[in-house]
Amino acid sequence: MQSRIKLLPSHVANQIAAGEVVQRPASVAKELMENALDAGATEIKLIVKDGGKALIQVIDNGTGMNEVDARMSFERHATSKILTAEDLSHIQTKGFRGEALASIAAVAHVELKTKTAEDELGTYIHTEANKLISQKPVATTKGTILSVKNLFFNIPARRKFLKSIQVEMRHVTDEFHRLALAHPQIVFHLIHNGNTIYQLPKSNHLQRISNIFGSRLKERLVPVKEETDYVKIYGFVGKPEFVKLKRGEQFFFVNDRFIKSPYLHHALLSAYEGLIKPKSYPSYFVYFEIDPEHIDVNIHPTKTEIKFDDEPTVYSILRVAARHSLGQFNLSPSIDFERDSSLDVPYDYVKKTPRTPKINVDPDFNPFEEEKKSKPNFLHKIKQEKTIFWDGLQSETQELSGQLEQDIAQEQLFESEVGQEHVSFQYLNKYIVTTHKDKLVFIHQNRAHQLVLFQQLMKQKEQNKFNAQQLIFPIELELQPYEIELLKTREELLTSFGFDVEYQQKFILIKSIPFEQKTLDITTIFQGLIKNLSLDIPMDVQQIEVDFAQNIAEKTAVQSGTKMNKPEMDALISDLFGLNNAVFSPKGKRIFVSLSGIEIENKLNR
Ligand code: ADP
Ligand code: MG
Repeated sequence: MQSRIKLLPSHVANQIAAGEVVQRPASVAKELMENALDAGATEIKLIVKDGGKALIQVIDNGTGMNEVDARMSFERHATSKILTAEDLSHIQTKGFRGEALASIAAVAHVELKTKTAEDELGTYIHTEANKLISQKPVATTKGTILSVKNLFFNIPARRKFLKSIQVEMRHVTDEFHRLALAHPQIVFHLIHNGNTIYQLPKSNHLQRISNIFGSRLKERLVPVKEETDYVKIYGFVGKPEFVKLKRGEQFFFVNDRFIKSPYLHHALLSAYEGLIKPKSYPSYFVYFEIDPEHIDVNIHPTKTEIKFDDEPTVYSILRVAARHSLGQFNLSPSIDFERDSSLDVPYDYVKKTPRTPKINVDPDFNPFEEEKKSKPNFLHKIKQEKTIFWDGLQSETQELSGQLEQDIAQEQLFESEVGQEHVSFQYLNKYIVTTHKDKLVFIHQNRAHQLVLFQQLMKQKEQNKFNAQQLIFPIELELQPYEIELLKTREELLTSFGFDVEYQQKFILIKSIPFEQKTLDITTIFQGLIKNLSLDIPMDVQQIEVDFAQNIAEKTAVQSGTKMNKPEMDALISDLFGLNNAVFSPKGKRIFVSLSGIEIENKLNR
């Protein structure tokens, strides 16, 4: 039989490689700007037509290329940036694979004009699908102009796949932002269809951020800084009250290269634990500096993912640094106490104790008794002990709440109504309606119950007093052996919450539970815990505890849509208002709304 294996012709190989490197106009813009940066340019102009579908052009004032290099630059695996595999571990440049120009040229019309400082004349090269159309000397200034036209002209399927001009332009702009943010000392321009979108002067990081995203953003950030032998961290994170409801300005850079990292994202978000509501997104701009020996940037052709050789360390340093910054910011009295009182502070905010396990350490501290005095008091305490911060947040939250919330926090609700008839009924099987002074109060039964259960769990845990319920018939839960191993590593946590567990090879037996609740859904609760543990994300014990308690509360609480009888409702109301603070559920949702007599009258007389 004839041999059948053949080497691919280079134009085919280039087209295949192009599939990886060149996904859309934005990828071309990125590669060309990176080449300009690698060439030492101090000014880079990106000129785009029709979202890059018609033209992507990058003009730089970098080193330029001589005639030979200009021709060579379009060859695959042609690079001036590394010579040996050894060099891979010290990469300082953006590119090194020598693939970008070859890949781009394989799927577009390309024109290059380039000149070095030494040469009199520059070189002009025109190619289409990597075929040389023309080459000649040209008069030009030092640097390079690379124009890419009609991207994917020879791959109709991919050309058709391109999105609208607006969408493609958004991607181009994203890449532009990433590079401009990483290199504030470089002047950048972005021009689309003749309009100047950005003209960014040489500046520092914070100025660059505000030049791109507006000066208001600058006021909403706090600095982060941490230096260790392994990694240096520098940057800015958003103040908790300016979080967004959708993902927005979130940037990590490692050695000035933008990277995506769900892992580090998680680290950063965890620093906001308790400060922001779930599903909200703080802005961040975080720059890591690390010896290139410790990272691998070569795991992805577009190099937006990298690997640190010690990921958990970076995770912890980032988390601690960010938390520290957020804490410092919250300690600053001028900002701390002058805050907008309409601020929505999630309940989470007050119950976390990141450093000391003590919550409400000062039993005599009543923020409402003498509200005015409590501020200096609190400030005084801060000076004594930094970690007291969380306690302060509690008083702050209570200050922020309205009169009704305060009354509730002070357990005045029923006291003030002595002698008055107390009404409560269920509405839509979802809310408990009750009265307080002249107000009608609507309580979200599910959230209220979640909070009550959560607080009960945390309190019992803290005091180590569990009325664990022994089960006559232990609950058997079938699990994978690795899941059982995971649970075993958290035996202490489980016992501390009142779960008595017996471990077998392929199942566990749950012999006691924290409290008797007919709604307690053990299976889901354990599965939630296992999932959390198997994420392999370093979490501190407290975070796991809080997550676990939240989970139990969530899965156990009376659901919306469940009919409640009068004694059940009354018990819930009194449990709820017996708490120090009953404004937000453990996951930060509002528990009740109220309507006053005046509000009703206003509505009637409108
Ligand atoms: P890589 O950047 O991975 O080396 P590229 O295909 O992007 O590969 O570029 C190939 C080579 O062409 C580069 O190594 C560099 O020597 C040269 N080159 C590309 N763009 C420029 C530019 N704007 N200025 C100077 N040299 C350039
Ligand atoms: Mg390159």
